[in-house]
Amino acid sequence: MNIITVLHIPHSSSYIPAEEREDILLSDELLADEILKMTDWYTDELFTSDIVKCKFVRYPVSRLILDPERFEDDALEIMASRGMGVIYTKTSEGKALRHAVDSNTRKRMLEKYYIPHHASLSQAVSSILAKNGKALVIDCHSFPSSPLPYEIDQDKNRHDVCLGTDSFHTPKALIQLIALNLKKMGYSVGINQPYGGTLVPMEFCRKDRRVASIMIEVNRGLYMDEMTGAKTGKFESIKEQIQTLLCLIEEFQQQAEPDAGGEWRGITLKSQAARRLAWVTDVCYQTFSLIHR
Ligand SMILES: [Zn+2]
Repeated sequence: MNIITVLHIPHSSSYIPAEEREDILLSDELLADEILKMTDWYTDELFTSDIVKCKFVRYPVSRLILDPERFEDDALEIMASRGMGVIYTKTSEGKALRHAVDSNTRKRMLEKYYIPHHASLSQAVSSILAKNGKALVIDCHSFPSSPLPYEIDQDKNRHDVCLGTDSFHTPKALIQLIALNLKKMGYSVGINQPYGGTLVPMEFCRKDRRVASIMIEVNRGLYMDEMTGAKTGKFESIKEQIQTLLCLIEEFQQQAEPDAGGEWRGITLKSQAARRLAWVTDVCYQTFSLIHR
Protein backbone atom coordinates (compact mmCIF):
# COMPACT_ATOMS: atom_id res chain seq x y z
CA MET A 1 0.00 0.00 0.00
CA ASN A 2 1.39 3.40 -0.95
CA ILE A 3 1.88 5.97 1.76
CA ILE A 4 -0.32 8.99 1.12
CA THR A 5 -0.71 10.50 4.59
CA VAL A 6 1.58 12.77 6.60
CA LEU A 7 0.79 13.05 10.30
CA HIS A 8 1.96 16.50 11.37
CA ILE A 9 2.49 16.76 15.13
CA PRO A 10 3.55 20.32 15.97
CA HIS A 11 2.80 20.77 19.67
CA SER A 12 3.55 17.52 21.52
CA SER A 13 7.07 18.41 22.69
CA SER A 14 7.75 20.01 26.07
CA TYR A 15 11.49 20.30 25.41
CA ILE A 16 13.11 23.67 26.17
CA PRO A 17 16.69 23.72 24.78
CA ALA A 18 19.14 24.94 27.47
CA GLU A 19 20.48 27.68 25.19
CA GLU A 20 16.99 29.21 24.90
CA ARG A 21 16.05 29.00 28.59
CA GLU A 22 17.70 32.25 29.66
CA ASP A 23 15.52 34.29 27.28
CA ILE A 24 12.39 33.08 29.07
CA LEU A 25 11.43 35.35 31.97
CA LEU A 26 9.46 32.78 34.01
CA SER A 27 10.73 30.94 37.09
CA ASP A 28 11.17 27.18 36.69
CA GLU A 29 7.88 26.65 38.50
CA LEU A 30 5.89 29.07 36.33
CA LEU A 31 7.54 27.74 33.18
CA ALA A 32 6.54 24.18 34.12
CA ASP A 33 2.98 25.41 34.64
CA GLU A 34 2.93 27.16 31.25
CA ILE A 35 4.29 24.03 29.54
CA LEU A 36 1.58 21.97 31.27
CA LYS A 37 -1.12 24.26 29.86
CA MET A 38 0.25 24.81 26.36
CA THR A 39 1.58 21.40 25.29
CA ASP A 40 -0.61 19.08 23.19
CA TRP A 41 0.30 16.24 25.51
CA TYR A 42 0.78 12.74 24.09
CA THR A 43 -0.49 13.63 20.62
CA ASP A 44 2.60 11.85 19.26
CA GLU A 45 1.30 8.70 20.98
CA LEU A 46 -2.38 9.18 20.19
CA PHE A 47 -1.80 9.79 16.49
CA THR A 48 0.31 6.80 15.71
CA SER A 49 -0.45 3.37 14.37
CA ASP A 50 1.17 0.02 13.75
CA ILE A 51 -1.47 -0.71 11.13
CA VAL A 52 -1.68 2.48 9.10
CA LYS A 53 1.41 3.48 7.14
CA CYS A 54 2.06 7.21 7.43
CA LYS A 55 4.94 9.62 7.42
CA PHE A 56 5.43 11.45 10.71
CA VAL A 57 6.68 15.00 10.98
CA ARG A 58 7.02 15.90 14.66
CA TYR A 59 8.29 19.26 15.84
CA PRO A 60 11.02 18.45 18.38
CA VAL A 61 10.87 21.46 20.74
CA SER A 62 8.20 23.21 22.77
CA ARG A 63 5.93 25.72 21.04
CA LEU A 64 6.96 28.16 23.79
CA ILE A 65 10.31 28.49 21.99
CA LEU A 66 8.82 28.93 18.53
CA ASP A 67 5.45 27.84 17.19
CA PRO A 68 5.63 26.13 13.78
CA GLU A 69 1.85 26.40 13.34
CA ARG A 70 2.01 30.18 13.08
CA PHE A 71 2.75 32.18 9.96
CA GLU A 72 6.43 33.05 9.69
CA ASP A 73 5.43 36.67 9.06
CA ASP A 74 3.70 38.22 12.09
CA ALA A 75 1.84 40.60 9.77
CA LEU A 76 -0.17 37.58 8.53
CA GLU A 77 -0.63 36.00 11.96
CA ILE A 78 -3.81 36.86 13.85
CA MET A 79 -2.34 35.70 17.20
CA ALA A 80 0.62 38.07 16.92
CA SER A 81 -1.53 40.87 18.33
CA ARG A 82 -1.81 38.79 21.53
CA GLY A 83 1.95 38.34 21.80
CA MET A 84 1.63 34.84 20.37
CA GLY A 85 2.99 35.07 16.86
CA VAL A 86 5.63 32.62 15.69
CA ILE A 87 7.81 33.51 18.72
CA TYR A 88 5.64 34.08 21.79
CA THR A 89 6.37 37.09 23.97
CA LYS A 90 3.32 36.52 26.21
CA THR A 91 2.08 33.56 28.23
CA SER A 92 -1.35 32.00 27.92
CA GLU A 93 -2.45 34.45 30.64
CA GLY A 94 -1.02 37.47 28.82
CA LYS A 95 2.00 37.85 31.13
CA ALA A 96 5.52 38.47 29.86
CA LEU A 97 7.15 35.27 28.56
CA ARG A 98 10.22 36.90 27.03
CA HIS A 99 11.44 40.35 26.05
CA ALA A 100 10.66 41.65 22.57
CA VAL A 101 12.68 39.69 20.02
CA ASP A 102 15.22 41.68 17.98
CA SER A 103 15.62 40.98 14.27
CA ASN A 104 18.88 39.01 14.66
CA THR A 105 17.40 36.72 17.29
CA ARG A 106 14.27 36.27 15.23
CA LYS A 107 16.32 35.34 12.15
CA ARG A 108 18.47 32.91 14.15
CA MET A 109 15.43 31.19 15.66
CA LEU A 110 13.54 30.93 12.39
CA GLU A 111 16.60 29.39 10.76
CA LYS A 112 17.13 26.98 13.63
CA TYR A 113 13.57 25.80 14.28
CA TYR A 114 10.96 27.00 11.79
CA ILE A 115 12.66 26.61 8.43
CA PRO A 116 14.04 23.05 8.95
CA HIS A 117 10.69 21.84 10.32
CA HIS A 118 8.73 23.23 7.39
CA ALA A 119 11.35 21.89 4.97
CA SER A 120 10.77 18.40 6.43
CA LEU A 121 7.02 18.78 6.08
CA SER A 122 7.26 20.08 2.50
CA GLN A 123 9.69 17.31 1.60
CA ALA A 124 7.36 14.64 3.01
CA VAL A 125 4.39 16.04 1.06
CA SER A 126 6.39 16.59 -2.16
CA SER A 127 7.77 13.05 -2.25
CA ILE A 128 4.30 11.53 -1.68
CA LEU A 129 2.82 13.81 -4.33
CA ALA A 130 5.49 12.92 -6.88
CA LYS A 131 4.90 9.22 -6.35
CA ASN A 132 1.13 9.12 -6.00
CA GLY A 133 -0.29 12.32 -7.48
CA LYS A 134 -2.00 13.15 -4.17
CA ALA A 135 -1.09 13.68 -0.52
CA LEU A 136 -3.00 14.17 2.71
CA VAL A 137 -1.78 16.14 5.73
CA ILE A 138 -3.45 15.39 9.06
CA ASP A 139 -2.64 18.20 11.47
CA CYS A 140 -2.74 16.51 14.90
CA HIS A 141 -3.47 18.52 18.06
CA SER A 142 -5.19 18.50 21.42
CA PHE A 143 -6.80 21.34 23.37
CA PRO A 144 -7.61 22.23 26.99
CA SER A 145 -11.12 21.38 28.17
CA SER A 146 -11.56 25.00 29.33
CA PRO A 147 -10.42 27.95 27.24
CA LEU A 148 -7.14 29.58 28.28
CA PRO A 149 -7.23 33.40 28.60
CA TYR A 150 -5.29 33.99 25.34
CA GLU A 151 -7.75 32.06 23.19
CA ILE A 152 -10.11 33.85 20.83
CA ASP A 153 -13.04 31.47 21.41
CA GLN A 154 -13.97 31.68 25.11
CA ASP A 155 -17.08 29.49 24.93
CA LYS A 156 -16.79 27.14 27.92
CA ASN A 157 -18.88 24.42 26.27
CA ARG A 158 -16.24 22.65 24.26
CA HIS A 159 -16.71 19.65 22.00
CA ASP A 160 -14.84 16.38 22.45
CA VAL A 161 -13.14 16.75 19.10
CA CYS A 162 -12.62 19.77 16.85
CA LEU A 163 -12.03 19.37 13.11
CA GLY A 164 -10.26 22.26 11.40
CA THR A 165 -10.90 22.60 7.69
CA ASP A 166 -9.96 24.71 4.71
CA SER A 167 -12.43 25.35 1.89
CA PHE A 168 -9.74 24.76 -0.75
CA HIS A 169 -7.81 21.84 0.74
CA THR A 170 -10.24 19.81 2.85
CA PRO A 171 -12.44 17.33 0.93
CA LYS A 172 -16.02 17.62 2.15
CA ALA A 173 -16.38 13.82 1.96
CA LEU A 174 -13.44 13.50 4.37
CA ILE A 175 -15.00 15.93 6.88
CA GLN A 176 -18.21 13.91 6.78
CA LEU A 177 -16.39 10.60 7.09
CA ILE A 178 -14.45 11.69 10.18
CA ALA A 179 -17.24 13.66 11.86
CA LEU A 180 -19.89 10.99 11.49
CA ASN A 181 -17.61 8.18 12.63
CA LEU A 182 -16.57 10.19 15.68
CA LYS A 183 -20.22 10.77 16.47
CA LYS A 184 -20.86 7.05 16.11
CA MET A 185 -18.07 6.49 18.66
CA GLY A 186 -20.02 8.75 21.02
CA TYR A 187 -18.08 12.00 20.69
CA SER A 188 -19.37 15.49 20.04
CA VAL A 189 -17.65 17.20 17.13
CA GLY A 190 -17.12 20.89 16.37
CA ILE A 191 -16.22 21.93 12.84
CA ASN A 192 -13.76 24.86 13.04
CA GLN A 193 -14.83 25.39 16.62
CA PRO A 194 -13.10 26.36 18.86
CA TYR A 195 -10.19 26.32 16.37
CA GLY A 196 -10.39 26.87 12.64
CA GLY A 197 -8.28 25.96 9.66
CA THR A 198 -5.62 23.37 8.94
CA LEU A 199 -2.00 23.48 7.94
CA VAL A 200 -0.84 23.14 4.33
CA PRO A 201 2.81 23.68 3.36
CA MET A 202 3.11 27.20 1.91
CA GLU A 203 4.31 26.06 -1.52
CA PHE A 204 1.02 24.19 -2.05
CA CYS A 205 -1.28 26.50 -0.09
CA ARG A 206 -4.26 27.58 -2.21
CA LYS A 207 -2.38 26.43 -5.32
CA ASP A 208 -2.61 22.65 -5.47
CA ARG A 209 -5.74 20.75 -4.42
CA ARG A 210 -3.97 17.43 -4.85
CA VAL A 211 -2.66 18.27 -1.38
CA ALA A 212 -5.53 17.68 1.02
CA SER A 213 -5.43 18.62 4.69
CA ILE A 214 -7.57 18.37 7.81
CA MET A 215 -6.86 19.26 11.44
CA ILE A 216 -7.98 16.90 14.22
CA GLU A 217 -7.95 18.36 17.74
CA VAL A 218 -8.80 16.12 20.72
CA ASN A 219 -10.11 17.54 24.01
CA ARG A 220 -7.46 16.77 26.66
CA GLY A 221 -10.15 16.15 29.25
CA LEU A 222 -10.92 12.91 27.40
CA TYR A 223 -7.57 11.29 28.03
CA MET A 224 -5.48 13.10 30.68
CA ASP A 225 -5.60 14.87 34.02
CA GLU A 226 -4.96 18.45 32.97
CA MET A 227 -3.88 19.50 36.48
CA THR A 228 -1.06 16.94 36.70
CA GLY A 229 -0.34 16.02 33.08
CA ALA A 230 -0.87 12.31 33.77
CA LYS A 231 -2.73 10.02 31.40
CA THR A 232 -6.07 8.73 32.66
CA GLY A 233 -7.40 5.18 32.36
CA LYS A 234 -9.22 6.18 29.17
CA PHE A 235 -6.04 6.95 27.25
CA GLU A 236 -5.64 3.54 25.61
CA SER A 237 -9.26 3.32 24.46
CA ILE A 238 -9.09 6.82 22.93
CA LYS A 239 -5.87 5.84 21.19
CA GLU A 240 -7.55 2.73 19.79
CA GLN A 241 -10.45 4.78 18.47
CA ILE A 242 -8.08 7.23 16.79
CA GLN A 243 -6.38 4.23 15.22
CA THR A 244 -9.73 3.07 13.81
CA LEU A 245 -10.25 6.56 12.47
CA LEU A 246 -6.79 6.54 10.84
CA CYS A 247 -7.65 3.22 9.17
CA LEU A 248 -10.78 4.75 7.67
CA ILE A 249 -8.91 7.84 6.57
CA GLU A 250 -6.21 5.67 4.99
CA GLU A 251 -8.82 3.85 3.00
CA PHE A 252 -10.37 7.13 1.92
CA GLN A 253 -7.08 8.58 0.74
CA GLN A 254 -6.03 5.39 -1.03
CA GLN A 255 -9.19 5.32 -3.10
CA ALA A 256 -10.36 8.89 -3.45
CA GLU A 257 -9.11 10.81 -6.47
CA PRO A 258 -9.26 14.53 -7.13
CA ASP A 259 -11.93 15.28 -9.76
CA ALA A 260 -11.59 17.94 -12.47
CA GLY A 261 -12.30 20.64 -9.89
CA GLY A 262 -9.77 19.14 -7.49
CA GLU A 263 -12.33 17.79 -5.00
CA TRP A 264 -11.38 14.31 -3.78
CA ARG A 265 -14.12 11.80 -4.62
CA GLY A 266 -14.77 8.16 -5.36
CA ILE A 267 -14.50 6.11 -2.22
CA THR A 268 -15.74 2.58 -1.65
CA LEU A 269 -14.98 1.21 1.78
CA LYS A 270 -13.80 -2.39 1.91
CA SER A 271 -12.06 -3.04 5.22
CA GLN A 272 -13.70 -4.77 8.14
CA ALA A 273 -13.61 -1.57 10.19
CA ALA A 274 -15.11 0.33 7.30
CA ARG A 275 -17.84 -2.23 6.62
CA ARG A 276 -18.84 -2.02 10.26
CA LEU A 277 -19.27 1.71 9.83
CA ALA A 278 -20.32 1.78 6.21
CA TRP A 279 -23.89 2.76 6.93
CA VAL A 280 -22.59 5.93 8.54
CA THR A 281 -20.73 6.79 5.37
CA ASP A 282 -23.81 6.10 3.27
CA VAL A 283 -25.73 8.51 5.46
CA CYS A 284 -22.85 10.91 5.12
CA TYR A 285 -22.97 10.96 1.34
CA GLN A 286 -26.72 11.23 1.27
CA THR A 287 -26.59 14.07 3.75
CA PHE A 288 -23.84 15.73 1.82
CA SER A 289 -25.62 15.50 -1.50
CA LEU A 290 -28.84 16.75 0.05
CA ILE A 291 -27.17 19.70 1.66
CA HIS A 292 -25.25 20.68 -1.43
CA ARG A 293 -27.89 20.11 -4.03
ZN1 LIG B 1 -1.80 22.33 18.97
